[in-house]
Amino acid sequence: MQNVEIASLGFPRIGRQRELKFAQEKYWRGELTQAELALVAKELRSTHWKWQAEAGVNLLPVGDFAYYDQVLTLSATLNAIPERHRDESESQSGKISLDTLFRVARGRAPTGKDAPAGEMTKYFNTNYHYIVPELTADQEFSVAFEQFFDEVEEAKAFGYKAKPVLLGPVSYLFLSKAVGSDFDKLSLLPKLIKTYADILVRFSAQGVEWVQLEEPILALELEADWQAAIASTYEALNDTSVNILLASYYGTVAHHQALISSLPVAGLHLDLVTAPKQLAVFAANLQAEQVISLGVINGRNVWAADIDVIAERIRPLVNDLPGRVWIAPSCSLLHSPVDLDVETELAPALKQQLSFAKQKLTELAQLQTLLSPPENCSNRAEVDAILATCVARREAREAAADKQVIDRVAALNSDDYERETEFAHRQTIQQQKFKLPLLPTTTIGSFPQTPAIRGLRSRWRKGEITETFYNDQLQQVTKDTVERQLKLGLDVLVHGEAERNDMVEYFGEQLEGVGFTQFGWVQSYGSRCVKPPLIYGDVSRPKAMTVEWAEYAQSLTDKPVKGMLTGPVTILHWSFAREDISREQIATQIGLAIRDEVVDLQNAGIGIIQIDEPAFREGLPLKKSDWEHYLNWAVDAFKLSAAGVTNETQIHTHMCYSEFNETIAAIAAMDADVITIETSRSRMELLTAFEDFEYPNEIGPGVYDIHTPNTPTVDEMVTLIEKAARKIPVRQLWVNPDCGLKTRTWDEVEPALKNLVQATKVLRRRL
Ligand code: GLN
Ligand code: ZN
Repeated sequence: MQNVEIASLGFPRIGRQRELKFAQEKYWRGELTQAELALVAKELRSTHWKWQAEAGVNLLPVGDFAYYDQVLTLSATLNAIPERHRDESESQSGKISLDTLFRVARGRAPTGKDAPAGEMTKYFNTNYHYIVPELTADQEFSVAFEQFFDEVEEAKAFGYKAKPVLLGPVSYLFLSKAVGSDFDKLSLLPKLIKTYADILVRFSAQGVEWVQLEEPILALELEADWQAAIASTYEALNDTSVNILLASYYGTVAHHQALISSLPVAGLHLDLVTAPKQLAVFAANLQAEQVISLGVINGRNVWAADIDVIAERIRPLVNDLPGRVWIAPSCSLLHSPVDLDVETELAPALKQQLSFAKQKLTELAQLQTLLSPPENCSNRAEVDAILATCVARREAREAAADKQVIDRVAALNSDDYERETEFAHRQTIQQQKFKLPLLPTTTIGSFPQTPAIRGLRSRWRKGEITETFYNDQLQQVTKDTVERQLKLGLDVLVHGEAERNDMVEYFGEQLEGVGFTQFGWVQSYGSRCVKPPLIYGDVSRPKAMTVEWAEYAQSLTDKPVKGMLTGPVTILHWSFAREDISREQIATQIGLAIRDEVVDLQNAGIGIIQIDEPAFREGLPLKKSDWEHYLNWAVDAFKLSAAGVTNETQIHTHMCYSEFNETIAAIAAMDADVITIETSRSRMELLTAFEDFEYPNEIGPGVYDIHTPNTPTVDEMVTLIEKAARKIPVRQLWVNPDCGLKTRTWDEVEPALKNLVQATKVLRRRL
C-alpha cells in the first residue's frame, strides 16, 4: 500500500513519432478513411493509457485526446459550434460530426461546405493554440458530441478507471469570444453549468468517480464577477455524484486562496513547479477529507527533476494527510515531448539530464517510492539507486558549468547595457552616414523559401550534397535576392535568410550550450508540431554565425544590407530552457552571445543590424504584478545584445504584433534605433500607443499583411502611411511589410513590394 497516489492530468496525444499528425493529414487529403483515422487514434490512446497505468497511475485521464484541439472537442460536446460550420442535418439532429469539428478548425473537411475557420489563439502563456469558441447572446448548450463518453467506455474495456479531464465552465467562457452582439459572456453561465451538470451525470452513470475540471484562469487576477462565477459554478456542480478535482496550472493561484479553499470540491490540484510557495497556504486551509494533488514534476519542460529534493519538501504533508495526497505533473504533459527512449543521437551527458512525458511518469513512480513509509525496508536498494542517480545528475550539471561565461556575466556593469550616447545624437550621426531618403523602405528579413531552397537543405542534411555545393547554391539565391531588391528600388536591403530553416534553430545549432533532439516534438496546433532547441548549459558563441552571409550580400551593393539576428529573449522563449539557473541569467548569457555577433558584423562593415524579438511579448507573466520584473530583465538582455556597437551602427528590432499599450515604456527602454512592427491589420490603430507615449526613436509600421497572398495596392498603402504620419512625425517613419516574407512566393512578393516602393514615392512628393 502506497501512501501517495500518482495522478496524471493528461498525456500528449500526437504519438512519439507524430503518428496522429500523419494520420490527420492523410485523412484531410483523402488518403485515409475516417475509420482508419479512428483506429490510429484508438491505438495511441491505448498506448498512452498503458504507459500511465504501468507507471502506477490509477485514474487514467480521458478527454486529453483530441482530433484537433481539446477546447474544440469541448465546444462540440457542448454543441457550441458556429452555424456556418454545421451541415444541415446537424442543425436538426443536434449532433456534431468529426468533419464539422475539422471545418471549425481548418475551414474545410473531406465532406461538407467550406466556411471561414474559427479563430485560433495561444493557450495562456504556452505555445499551444486552441480554437476560440464563438458564443452568441442567445447561445444554447446541449450534449452533442459523444467522444468523451465513448472514450470512458474504451478505457473501461481495458479494465481502467477513467478520470475525464475537461476545461471548467468558467475558464471555457472566459476563453470564448462573444459574437454577433456585444454581451456579457457571464450571462450564459447558468445555461452552461446545466450542460456541464448533464455531462457529469452521464459520467457518473458510466461509473466515473473523479472528474478533473480545470480552471486555469485562476492564475490570472480576475475581476469580481469572474471570481463570483467560480464560486457559483462549483456550488451548482456540487449536486452531481462525481468527485471534482479542481485543477489550476501555469502559475500561482494563492491570490484567490480564500475563494478556492471555500469551494465544495473533493480535490485541488496545484502547480507547484511555477509556484512552489502556494502549497503552504492551501495545505493549511484544506477541508476535511479533501484531496490535494501536488504538481511537482514540470509538465512543460524536458529536464529530469531533483526528486530527492521534492520528496523531502513534501514528506511532512504526506505524513500529515495519509491517503489524501496525490503527486502529479504540474499540468497536462501536452506541452512536453513524448518519449526520450526514441532519441538515439543525444550525447549521453545531455540525455541523462532529460525526461519527456513517459519518463516523467517514471519520475513520479520513483518519487512515490522515496515517499513510501520507512518501515517498508524491502525497497532500500531501490531508494538508494534513485538517490544516487539524482546526486550524479546534479554533479554532472555542476561539473559542466562554463566558468568563462559565468565570470563574464558576473563582470557586467551598467555601461555594458547602454549605447555610447543617447538616441538623438546617434540619429544625426546615422543620417549623415546612410543619407537615407524620407520614409526609407526596407523588409523584415526573409524572402521566399522556395521548394528549391528547402530541397537543397534537405539534401545537404542527408549528406547527399557537399557543404561547399550547398553554400555556393545559397550564395546564388542570396545574389538573386539582392538583385531583385535593387531592381525594386528598396533603400535598405536584406540578404534574405535563405540559409535558415528557422530563426531560433539556426542560431541554436551554432551556440555552445544548446542542443537538439530528433523527435522532441510538441503540438503547437492541430497537426502542427514544433521541436524547440534545448538550452542545457551555459550559452556562448564559439565563432561568427552570420558574418559570411552578411558580408557576401553587402559586397554586391553600395546600399546598406541589414545584418539579421534573433534576439536573446526570443531564443529563450522558443527553447526548452534549463531550470537550475534563472531565465534572467540565461537571457543574459544569450544576450552576450548575440552581442559578440553584433560586434563582429559591425567590424565586417555591416552598418545596420536587426535583432528580432517577435517573442518578446509572449514572455509576459500571467499576473500583471509580475510584469515589471520580466520586462526589466528582458529589456536588459536585448540592450546587452545591442549595445556593443558605435553610434554609427544602426540597430533595428522587429516584433510581429503591435499590442504595445501596456508595454510601450519597456519597448522605448530597449532603445533600438528603429523598430518594425505589425500594424496593417489594425489599420495603424495600434500605433496610438507610440503616439501617446511620444516614442522618440524611429518606427517602421507594417503597411501590408504578409499573411495573405493578395497584392496590396498603392492606394491602400498610401492611405496607411498617411495615417501613420498623422500619429508619428514623418521623419521618424520607415516603410516596410508587417513581417518576413519566407512563406510567400516571388510572384506575390515582387508586385507587393513594387507597390510599396511606389506608395512611398507618391508620399515623398506629397509630404
Ligand atoms: N527576420 C525574420 C524574418 O523575416 C523575422 C521573423 C519573425 O518576425 N517571426 O523571417
Ligand atoms: Zn515578424
